[in-house]
Amino acid sequence: MKINRKLGFETKMVHAGHTPDSQTGSRAVPIYQTTSYVFNDADHAARLFELNQDGHIYTRISNPTTAVFEERIAALEGAVGAVAVSSGMAAQMAVFMTLLQPGDQIVASSHLYGGSVVQLSHLLKKMNISVRFVDPSSLENWEAAITPQTKALYGETIGNPSGSILDIENVSALGKRKGIPLIVDNTFATPFLCRPFEFGASLVVSSATKFLGGHGNSIGGVVLDSGKFDFSGFPAVADASPAFHDLKFLEKFGKLGFLAKLRSEMVRDVGFCISPVNSFLLIQGLETLSLRMERHVQNAKKVASFLENHKKVAYVNYAGLKSSPYHDLCRKYLPLGPGAIFSFGLKSSNGKDVRDMGKTLISRLKIFSHLANVGDVHSLIIHPASTTHQQLSDQELRDAGIGPEVIRLSIGLETIDDLLWDLEQALEAA
Ligand SMILES: *Cc1c(COP(=O)(O)O)cnc(C)c1O
Repeated sequence: MKINRKLGFETKMVHAGHTPDSQTGSRAVPIYQTTSYVFNDADHAARLFELNQDGHIYTRISNPTTAVFEERIAALEGAVGAVAVSSGMAAQMAVFMTLLQPGDQIVASSHLYGGSVVQLSHLLKKMNISVRFVDPSSLENWEAAITPQTKALYGETIGNPSGSILDIENVSALGKRKGIPLIVDNTFATPFLCRPFEFGASLVVSSATKFLGGHGNSIGGVVLDSGKFDFSGFPAVADASPAFHDLKFLEKFGKLGFLAKLRSEMVRDVGFCISPVNSFLLIQGLETLSLRMERHVQNAKKVASFLENHKKVAYVNYAGLKSSPYHDLCRKYLPLGPGAIFSFGLKSSNGKDVRDMGKTLISRLKIFSHLANVGDVHSLIIHPASTTHQQLSDQELRDAGIGPEVIRLSIGLETIDDLLWDLEQALEAA
């Protein structure tokens, strides 16, 4: 859309990356369910393969529906570009494998998605890439963990289960002083609530599976580049690519060099591609992102206050509450509210075991779904101690920051009074 005006977030949500084509006039973004694309002639084909012309060759590399999704999320995050991939995990992996080489080190917040902890500490180790986890709440911890091998800083806008808020501006400034990019997982916030690039982050990754799609029906992920970090000191990115007759991606593609390299190595060569149907469904999600996030936050704030005042609740880790140690950071980075995913702790009453209370609470809920996902229109709940972490002892759970009393919620879009009623009756039984 060529309009000489700075467009608002909601307009970009609905329009960025797509204008109806002149042949069909289709207002909705079409699903290009095709594996491959006919070349105009032999020269055209050669230019596409040499990366001397934009265009589609094969859907493992790029696809017109996915391209709209990429352009739209890039517009919303304020990125120079985006690459969509098959999942949030693939997005992170694609970034690490494009940026790093054996011997490099990542300094990461310890308040991460469980799958990310496993990926960082076990899978990357196989490639001789190490990780140091730090409590993200103090800048000194980040600084103390950095060594000459450190090539990436990594954290989540909103961490779990602590509900911590990453001090993006100060951590990215520290990175800049040391020549290290800050990569932010913005899954829990979405660009509607926080745009990490505005605070100096260099790269953003997101699981589109969660609020971006919003309806719990499609797995997907995105990698976004601010276009502001100079990757020329990173051999993995800057060196000539033998796979492309020694092409130097940064020289040829400038600000889009990192993403071009990621697309050719991770999407083309590894096959981290997303299906066009998933891209279509994720575009549908983006078109209502602001409306959903407003209501998610409004409902979450009410549930958090309700729980904070409940006699069977020991604490609530929601940065939107005044009692949260992250309340000030939340007001700076997430003025519209810290999303709708948070944890709370059950308080033992009459000598009851909090693990058993957690199980009863979950079994009595009628509206909340008990499952392993977040960021859905449906309200979700999980009790880590009796599910994902059930093999751990109480002590091991505490070391992981997940006591037996912890319950995680993802607040959906149901009528707020129904959600409060459901929690009240189930807490009563617990
Ligand atoms: C779900 C999630 C991921 C992984 O995304 P998938 O799409 O499930 O692969 C990464 N980070 C966070 C914060 C998540 O919630």
